[in-house]
Amino acid sequence: MYRTHYVSELSPEMDGQEVVIAGWVHEVRNIGKIVFILLRDRSGIAQVIGKEGVVSDDIIKSMNLPKESVIRIRGTVKRSSESKAGFEIVPLEVKNLNPLEAAIPFEVTGKVAAEIDVRLDNRQIDLRRIETTSIFNIQSTILNSFRSTMLREGFSEIRTPVLVEAATEGGADLFTVDYFEKKAFLAQSPQLYKQLAVVGGMDRVFMVVPVFRAEKHNTVFHLNEVTQMDAEMGFADHKDAIKLLKKVVKGIINDVAKKNGMDLERLNVSLSKPVIKEITYKKALGLLNANGSELEFGQDLNREHEEALCRLLGELVVVKEYPSSVRAFYSMPNERDRSVCNSFDLIYKGLEISSGAQRIHIPETLIQSIKEHGLDPKEFEFYINAFRQGAPPHAGWSLGLERLTMKLTGMQNIRECSLFPRDRIRLKP
Ligand code: ATP
Ligand code: MG
Repeated sequence: MYRTHYVSELSPEMDGQEVVIAGWVHEVRNIGKIVFILLRDRSGIAQVIGKEGVVSDDIIKSMNLPKESVIRIRGTVKRSSESKAGFEIVPLEVKNLNPLEAAIPFEVTGKVAAEIDVRLDNRQIDLRRIETTSIFNIQSTILNSFRSTMLREGFSEIRTPVLVEAATEGGADLFTVDYFEKKAFLAQSPQLYKQLAVVGGMDRVFMVVPVFRAEKHNTVFHLNEVTQMDAEMGFADHKDAIKLLKKVVKGIINDVAKKNGMDLERLNVSLSKPVIKEITYKKALGLLNANGSELEFGQDLNREHEEALCRLLGELVVVKEYPSSVRAFYSMPNERDRSVCNSFDLIYKGLEISSGAQRIHIPETLIQSIKEHGLDPKEFEFYINAFRQGAPPHAGWSLGLERLTMKLTGMQNIRECSLFPRDRIRLKP
């Protein structure tokens, strides 16, 4: 048995109990004659004090345990007012499980800041920083919360292919792969497939999928491999989709606040109760222009505009009914106001985290929109034909996992929020 308890499961009330803990040497501290080992596991740090143990100060000193050695300690819990946790571990046995053979490339304790590139090059070491683990604990809650809301709302989880024959969002920004005698692409989005699942009668589907964007930008908001949480629903318009998105995002924020208290504390983040405002593109334009912008109808909102909207309206803002020209060709024109379409974005703390729309399910309207977007309907024949055999009105959205994680954890760089990020130059580890 490698452990009986995680460090966080120990308490002063266990005084006298024998336990086995395992993890890494955070530090060995020599204070005068006393020697401490700080043992760190994923849950926290325990103080092991040699003074009275069978494994005495001198034995610990002679063991040579550099920082980040992987160890197991059998010992007794001892109540102690001198330790912050209210207890210490008196060691009966200390075992070095795999003596270090290579130097640790940076200080895991965070006492000396390491460059993000060095940390990412050594992600397995970076994860030993308790803050890094916390980001991914939060990400795990996001994924679980998304799944449980969607299941509760009557959606089925589906898988969609990553290898595809044609673009769904237009030709640019695709990664090409050799596919036997042909070329294939890595999917930019599961758009077509989730629509087909709805058209097929599944009606309410969701998925968590990797998507690939061969965009050459190098920003702190973009990755080239992204994880999207996607939803698509039949017999629905953009307002139904917005309602669902709000429920999902509020659920995620509430779940993280409830389940990741310790992680948020480590990251020094406090989350306020989620309130989501809604505004049309036209009204947003008026509001922004009244506050110093010079936007004209038909211009897309850029990051500064999105930041300004959050300053003016609140942390979470849905902007809906954008002009068709700035949205994907499959966005449904608005019935009452043909100059806009039934599309929307969710902005969180100044950053777009989700996009969605009611889709065009009428083949003729779709062909017209494809042409208006400067694309060739011939290239979308399969997609268009899918709507000729009884396709219901439908709507959906995608929510970017890494961007949402970024805003929830207060990170400044999206690379912090992908376990093994892929960017313009990074392809390993
Ligand atoms: P942007 O304009 O900000 O580059 P987008 O509008 O091209 O993003 P969508 O196609 O709407 O992105 O994708 C849906 C969601 O997926 C986005 O709202 C975002 O959360 C996430 N996403 C898309 N592309 C990226 C990317 N390159 N890096 C990180 N997240 C992304
Ligand atoms: Mg978008």
